[in-house]
Amino acid sequence: MDDALAAPTGVFGHAGAEGFEQVVFFHDAQTALRAIIAIHSTALGPALGGTRFLAYPDEAAALADVCRLARAMTYKHAVAGLDHGGGKAVILGDPRHVRSDALIRAYADCVDGLAGRYLTAEDVGTTQADIDLIHGRTPHVTGTSEVLGGSGDPSPATAWGVLCALGTVGARAWGTSSLRGRHVVVAGVGKVGAALVGHLTEAGARVTVADPDAAAVEAAVALHGVEVVAPEAAHAIPCDVFAPCALGGVLSERTIPELRCTVVCGSANNQLAMPSDGRRMADRGVLYAPDYVVNAGGVINIAEERPHYDRSRAWQRIAGIADTLETVFELADEQDCTPPEAADHIAEARLAAAGDEDALPDTQVPAARDPAPCRDHRRRPGS
Ligand code: NAD
Repeated sequence: MDDALAAPTGVFGHAGAEGFEQVVFFHDAQTALRAIIAIHSTALGPALGGTRFLAYPDEAAALADVCRLARAMTYKHAVAGLDHGGGKAVILGDPRHVRSDALIRAYADCVDGLAGRYLTAEDVGTTQADIDLIHGRTPHVTGTSEVLGGSGDPSPATAWGVLCALGTVGARAWGTSSLRGRHVVVAGVGKVGAALVGHLTEAGARVTVADPDAAAVEAAVALHGVEVVAPEAAHAIPCDVFAPCALGGVLSERTIPELRCTVVCGSANNQLAMPSDGRRMADRGVLYAPDYVVNAGGVINIAEERPHYDRSRAWQRIAGIADTLETVFELADEQDCTPPEAADHIAEARLAAAGDEDALPDTQVPAARDPAPCRDHRRRPGS
C-alpha cells in the first residue's frame, strides 16, 4: 500500500478505511452553522478532542482534516495513558466573520446530541469564551474556565508539555536538557506558541518567531524581544530546534530537504504531510519528536479535571511527557524504526489490548503483550 491509499476520499472512504465509529454532519439554517464531528474510537473511553473553527478551502478539506485529527487523538490518548477515545470537530468558516453566540450555542446542541460519546474542547479558532458558552448548553465539554469548575484553556498546559519534551530531545541531541543558548524557531505564536516562547526565553534560548498574524508577532516581540522571520521561510532557518505550532502538514517532501535544524519538536497536530515523511525526516538526519506525544499536555490537563482540578498535580503529570518521549525514542532505537512508527506501535498495543482492532490499520495488529517490531505505518494518524 502506498501513501496515496493513506488518503481515502469521501465520507465512507474516510470512515470505512480508517475504522471510524461515527462521522456526523450538522447544519443549522438560522445561524448558518456547518460542522462535522468525527468519532474515531471510544475503545478507551469517551472520544475527546477540540473544536477547530477554520475557513477550509472546501468541504472535502474539512472532512479530511477532522478525520485525520480525530484519529490522531485516539493515538495521543493511548500513548499518554488516558482513558479517552479519539474525536475531533470542525466548524467550517472564518470565525472572524461567521462566529456568533447563537452559532456557538447551536454547535453546543450538536455536541449534546451525541450524549457524551464525544467531549469537546478548545482548538485552533475557538476560545475560552466559546467553551464557556458551550458549557451553558451541554455537560460534554472540557477546559471550561476554572470558575465554572474546569481546568481553563489547555494551551498553557500544552506549551508546558512541549517544553518538557524539548528537555528529552535536547538530552538526545546535545547531551543536555538545558535550552540555554539554543536557537529555537517557533512557527505560530497563537495560544500555544506564545506560551512556549515565554518558557523558552525564560530558559535562556534564543527565539525566532513566525506568524502571518502581525498582532501576534508584535505581542511576542514586545513581551520577549524575539527575532522575526516570514512564515514561509521559518522551516528553512538554520537553528537547533524548529517548533511547528500552527497548522499541520508543515513537514513534507518539499520542506524536509530545506530543513536546517537538528530537531523538530512542536505543538502542531499532524505535522507530517504524509506517513512516509517520518522516514524522510530520519534520512535527512533530523530528530523528529512525534507531534501527538509532544502535544499531549492539554489533554492530560483536561483528564485531571475530575473529580477536582489541581493544577500542580496536573502539571506534574504533564512533565511525564519527557519520559514518554524517551520511551518512544528508545523503542525506535531498539526496533530500528522511526520515532513516529515507534509511537504508533505503543498506541496500537494499548488499543489492541482494549479490543479495538477496528481502529487500527488493517495490515497488522500487534499483540498487546508481545510487541511486534515497528513496521511501516502507512496509514499513520497525524499524517
Ligand atoms: P491558535 O489558533 O491559537 O494559533 C495558531 C497560530 O498559528 C495563529 O497565530 C496563526 O496566525 C498562526 N499561523 C497560521 N498559519 C501559519 C503559518 N503558516 N506559519 C506560522 N504561523 C501560522 O492555535 P493553538 O491553540 O495555539 O494551536 C496551535 C497548534 O497546536 C494546532 O495545530 C493545534 O491543533 C495544536 N494543539 C493545540 C493544543 C492546545 O492546547 N491549544 C493542544 C494540542 C495541539
